[in-house]
Amino acid sequence: MASPVLVYDDKYLKYNFGEGHAMREERLLLTKMLMQDYGLIGPKGAVEMKPSLAEYEDLIAVHDRGYLEVLEHLSEHPDGQSFSHGLGISDNPVFAGMFEAASLQVGGTMLACDAVAKGETEKAMNLGGGFHHALPARASGFCLLNDIAVGIKRLLGKYGLSRVMYVDIDVHHADGVQSIFIDDPRVLKVSIHEDGHYLFPGTGDIDEIGTGDGEGYTVNVPLPPYSGDASYLHAFKEIVIPLAEAFKPEVLFTQLGADAHFADPLAHLNLTTRAYEEIGRDFDEISRRYGGGRWVAVTGGGYDIMICPRIWTLFFAKMLGKELANDLPIEWMEYCKITYAIAPKGGTLRDSEETQDGGAVSSAVKKVVDGVKRKVFKYHGLS
Ligand SMILES: [Zn+2]
Repeated sequence: MASPVLVYDDKYLKYNFGEGHAMREERLLLTKMLMQDYGLIGPKGAVEMKPSLAEYEDLIAVHDRGYLEVLEHLSEHPDGQSFSHGLGISDNPVFAGMFEAASLQVGGTMLACDAVAKGETEKAMNLGGGFHHALPARASGFCLLNDIAVGIKRLLGKYGLSRVMYVDIDVHHADGVQSIFIDDPRVLKVSIHEDGHYLFPGTGDIDEIGTGDGEGYTVNVPLPPYSGDASYLHAFKEIVIPLAEAFKPEVLFTQLGADAHFADPLAHLNLTTRAYEEIGRDFDEISRRYGGGRWVAVTGGGYDIMICPRIWTLFFAKMLGKELANDLPIEWMEYCKITYAIAPKGGTLRDSEETQDGGAVSSAVKKVVDGVKRKVFKYHGLS
């Protein structure tokens, strides 16, 4: 098997909403450094590739021309705003160069899709992207351009695939991706997120199951606040695994937002690294069983910069089929201490035993899972 691909560029850090904004792209650099210090990149690990800017003709597959023009204009004249396009509000402040910064991360997702679709590799991660809230004509929730939708459209169009399974584990509902493929049965979309009654963007109810030909191909799993590993894994295994078996995806496409972790400051789910590792194992298994190993991953949300690198490195290790030592590399710990005056507690890759949720599956989550099954399983010959 050809080595997995990691797509990354230090220029990703130019996606910067400014001082005090929750999203800090230095988390991507920290992840890259951690992967490097664990030996996951290079001769015995992944091939690193640098993205190019997505072209206008790529973006237009998803976004309205008028929106792209406004985004490009504000990128050059950052003293303006366009509230009707979601640009200039506190979530999405305007900054110089925002069009190029966003286009580069789209280019990264396109490159990851290309590498997998062309058979150059089975597995590719864009260490960027994951902007699942962006809509065709509107920025939303820190997301300017929907790299995921551009990537999936490319898999369907340019490469003629007809079964892409999209699984989104970001703590926020994948509203943008859902709306763009709402009537498309070629894309089975599963979003597991914190219940929209408690968290942005407020959507993602179990009743949202898709429209037209796409009915039954939108699957939402809204979990109550404070759901931990046991509840989350129950939902994941009861829903994602059987749907994958029924759908048999040619490619698995995952959005790996790290903000469902218990330490994330913006949300209220309580996952630990144990759940993330288990999910990574399942993703790998799904990709092997149905898609010849083909798995495209992008990152996404995650607002504790000490957490994201550990979670994304654990996922990437799964892509590479490597087990990682639990002690974090000393060089990386030193860099964190010098640069940020902090480092992960205990110096370990995985959360400590005390934070592991060995708890039972909550009855509220069982109810959600049963509800989701009732809504969508019939479309897939499942009961
Ligand atoms: Zn998120």
